[in-house]
Amino acid sequence: MGYPEVILKRGRERWVLEGHPWVFPASIDKHPMSVESGGLIDLLDRNRNFLARGYYNPVSSIPVRILTRNQNQEINRSFLTSRIWQACDWRRRWIDEQRTTAYRIVHGENDGLPGLIVDKYQGFLVVQFHTLGMDLMREMVIESLQEVICPDGIYERSDVGTRRGEGMEEFPVRLLIGAEPPPIVEVLEHGLKFFCDLRKGQKTGFFLDQRENRLAVQSLVKRWKVLNCFSYSGGFSVYAARGGASKVISVDTSEVGIELARKNLEHNRFDPNLHPCIISNVFDYLKFSRKNGNQFDMVILDPPAFVKTKRALDRAIRAYINLNRSAIQVLRPGGMLVSSSCSTLIDYETFFNIIRKAAIACHRDFRIVRGHLQAVDHPVTVTFPEGRYLKSVFGIVG
Ligand code: SAH
Repeated sequence: MGYPEVILKRGRERWVLEGHPWVFPASIDKHPMSVESGGLIDLLDRNRNFLARGYYNPVSSIPVRILTRNQNQEINRSFLTSRIWQACDWRRRWIDEQRTTAYRIVHGENDGLPGLIVDKYQGFLVVQFHTLGMDLMREMVIESLQEVICPDGIYERSDVGTRRGEGMEEFPVRLLIGAEPPPIVEVLEHGLKFFCDLRKGQKTGFFLDQRENRLAVQSLVKRWKVLNCFSYSGGFSVYAARGGASKVISVDTSEVGIELARKNLEHNRFDPNLHPCIISNVFDYLKFSRKNGNQFDMVILDPPAFVKTKRALDRAIRAYINLNRSAIQVLRPGGMLVSSSCSTLIDYETFFNIIRKAAIACHRDFRIVRGHLQAVDHPVTVTFPEGRYLKSVFGIVG
């Protein structure tokens, strides 16, 4: 097949053999002589044994991402079709498509397709090409998606910062093929209706990774007063309302998000007057609630990632501790905190410690009753710790 070759330093093959999909610059002994950026390469050890096949981008902080460890596997359309088919197959078994019509179909490295995200919203697909290597395969990816899924339309949302690190200056947001999705697409999640803005909404339009936590919240909140912080389009709020919460307050700084939250509550026949949606900074809102002696039975915290670089880690940890402490302070004894962190750099152990320090700081007991990773359609490859990002804890405050 004769792909250009990348040769690893001696002893650096272990991670690749174990199944890690990335190769960092420090592991590379010899770069290929001639290969276009983003092109396919074979990865060899110092004794020239084949290790894997992937794509190569010398300007990236991850110059090689692995597509297969099978030497006989050509990287072509049938490879992509087969990976996408595999990704769809088990999700279709797991997810009840009568009641849930929005879910992730391809979760990058964790589905063997580094740099590619594909989310399904009703009949539409939203795709993101995060890396140059995957971007170069876009035509084949689109053809494969059409073959496996037959969507009404495929929309691209490559407005992702990771492309900059790959040397790409364009962040395309556009229709790729088929019908243009309407400005607002209505989807179902566990039978609830949600309006999603696929073209301009956050992420690809909805926070699909919190689906299972939202369902857990629904089962807990009967007659409870719930504060949903960082609510965006009200995902947790609508579930809490269906669970019989007496009052759900949604708080977010995003006007668009809060407007969608209101619409989503109404659309599911919950009264937005009973369940107020407030444009406010969560930190201010929690301070204000504490000052006024407002107490809640449940507080949900689902902030954006506070940390994207290792250098900023300590400061971010302090911010998470402060936030969780402020939330615990407005919970009545016996109330429940549902706290998440989607920062990849914060691992589960660190997150537990954040919660522990927050509870100690306000002299309250805290019992964890549920720990959770991202929803099933966002699988986590065991040999790829960088792929774990969402961590959630449900805990009872003393
Ligand atoms: N829980 C949501 C997703 C939350 S994403 C769901 O299930 O769909 C994080 C949200 O935090 C974004 O909507 C963003 O607008 C909001 N946000 C970021 N900083 C904020 C702040 N300081 N106060 C309030 N909202 C904030």
